[in-house]
Amino acid sequence: MILLHVESVRKMTKRSLFIAGTDTNAGKTFITSALLRKFSKIAQSVAVIKPIQTGCFDGDGELVAPDMSFYETFSGGLKNVSFFCFEKFKAACAPSLAARLEGKTIDVDGLMDKIRRIIDGNDVVLVEGAGGLMVPIGAHNATMIVDLIASLRIPVVLVAPNRVGTINHVALSVSELQRRGIQVAGIILNQLSEIKDVERLFLDGNLTEIQSIYHEINCFSMPHLDTSADNFFEKLDAITQKICIPRQQTAIPNLESSVKFDHEHLLHPYDNLKNSLPVQVIESASGVELKTADGETLIDGISSWWCAIHGYNNARLNRAMEEQLQNVAHVMFAGLTHDPAIKLGEQLLCMVPPGLTKIFYSDSGSISVEVALKMAVQWARGQGFENKQKFFALRGGYHGDTAWAMSVCDPEEGMHKRFGRILPRQIFLPRPCVKFNQSINFAAEWARYEPFFEEHGREIAGFILEPIAQCAGGFWFYSPEYLTLFRELCNGYDILLIADEIATGFGRTGKLLACDWANIVPDIMCLGKGLTGGYMTLAATLTTDAVISGISKDGPLMHGPTFMANPLACAVARESMKIISEGTWYENTKRIEVFFKEAFLPLGKFHSVRDVRVLGSMGVVEMAQVVDQQAFQKHCVANNVWLRAFENFIYVMPAYVISNEHLETLAKAIYLWIENSEKQGL
Ligand code: PMP
Repeated sequence: MILLHVESVRKMTKRSLFIAGTDTNAGKTFITSALLRKFSKIAQSVAVIKPIQTGCFDGDGELVAPDMSFYETFSGGLKNVSFFCFEKFKAACAPSLAARLEGKTIDVDGLMDKIRRIIDGNDVVLVEGAGGLMVPIGAHNATMIVDLIASLRIPVVLVAPNRVGTINHVALSVSELQRRGIQVAGIILNQLSEIKDVERLFLDGNLTEIQSIYHEINCFSMPHLDTSADNFFEKLDAITQKICIPRQQTAIPNLESSVKFDHEHLLHPYDNLKNSLPVQVIESASGVELKTADGETLIDGISSWWCAIHGYNNARLNRAMEEQLQNVAHVMFAGLTHDPAIKLGEQLLCMVPPGLTKIFYSDSGSISVEVALKMAVQWARGQGFENKQKFFALRGGYHGDTAWAMSVCDPEEGMHKRFGRILPRQIFLPRPCVKFNQSINFAAEWARYEPFFEEHGREIAGFILEPIAQCAGGFWFYSPEYLTLFRELCNGYDILLIADEIATGFGRTGKLLACDWANIVPDIMCLGKGLTGGYMTLAATLTTDAVISGISKDGPLMHGPTFMANPLACAVARESMKIISEGTWYENTKRIEVFFKEAFLPLGKFHSVRDVRVLGSMGVVEMAQVVDQQAFQKHCVANNVWLRAFENFIYVMPAYVISNEHLETLAKAIYLWIENSEKQGL
């Protein structure tokens, strides 16, 4: 009970604020220190972070950050406060320049990780910027506002020196912040020096003017205080007492009506309209954390259906899109081309197996599958194989929700049941039964599959499969040797092998592409999901010169979506692929795999668990019975995690950047669910 109480008090006090200046020498450190005193009286732990400090001086063999001593003096030995400074430089100038003068660059992603960890571990965290909002802080033109403030997604307290020109500086800063959706929680005009009576009129006027422009933001004036006066701290505390900074802006007043509108008018994926599941209203997201409108934080274990592989609100992806937005958001791709499509293409060709040389961009995974199937049929026509109009697909497979894609999904478990009559009839081969880490008996498996080729080969244009890992069809991981077998069989019967890497691509299985486990080159490959790091919808169908020259004999490839190669999507995809090519996904996937094995394999001991499977950054617990999705969702939200079960499966497919602490929270929520199911004898 006591624990619960402490927890609810923590939730009430928990908040983070970014203290930003309209300019350098605005008095941010003074205000931060004043707020530090204020919050230390109501919260159990308060941390102040000065991520970057320039103008440091030598002291006892290490650089001393002047703001640290300021905080220390102001906190006067309070026990519940701590201070952090991560990047210290001597020159008193812009951070990126100060770093460059010492031959260094600031690792902005590293900084973000450190800040987030401190935010997680404290009730109140104050992060003090350096200089104004647009100061450059790192490589790739990183700035304070884009790369720290917007990425952290915490409200800003804007500090401005109260003088002539302040209104302009405040207005510029507020509009930059609001343009990026950052909440301005307060504006503090700081009287840096004693004012003469003649100035009072217009300096007081500044506050009134700013208040009338931003009536929705709390504005304060901090008078000049004599720091050497005996009662300085008493006076300061009395003033800061009056400063009221609202919590993170939430849609709470409108929340009920928003949810009602959603419930009544918006359709959600695979939704039962008569009995739709409750929805969470997400206000913002950062890293692997989703912030709900009612102020909760949910750790996302499924990276928005496996696509947000670099985490949300990634500074590099944000910047790539913002930069492209300044050029052009969209142009048609017929008769026109552009740099983002070309650069992304160059990048992709370095990543896929050699031989895949032609790229068709489309708008979603399902459409890329439609394009792949069209390619195969047109190729067959071009080759004179008029009868080759059907496809082989695997039982347990899933390839999308459009009509032709549905026709190659599992015919019983998939959507055939409902659309069976209108969907083209395809030929389904048995699901590969040998597990991922086992060897197949090649001759026996050949004998199992070859009769299908023998019987239907003449009517089959392509064989579509999810290499190694069948995902939405039941998270089944099979031996890579099947890929070699299927490649050989397809070669022998003039059938194109189509690898649907939409879910498995870009590191999910522990290799860059799942086909790499067997070193096979498919004739056609579909890519999607993580391609844009989950930022925009974009997919690609890649194929070989041979297939394209076959198609050409039939005429042009008959597909051309309006949003083909959308420049915004291509630009963000290019950055996402750059991040992948830098290789950190590899270490992360290994780390996540080790974690999943330790956390999930022991769950096999429970009666309610039928099987546990782990591959790369995919952890799957197959339950003996269908999981009650609604109850599971409620349980997850109550445990501050975001997971979705389907049928018997509870699974985790997180962003690669997820920390082990976050993984632990996810694993704990799953453990509690299973323990509970066990108690109820499910
Ligand atoms: N193929 C596979 C293997 C998939 O997992 C999915 C999506 N889950 C698709 C195709 C369809 O992609 P989209 O939802 O982008 O249409």
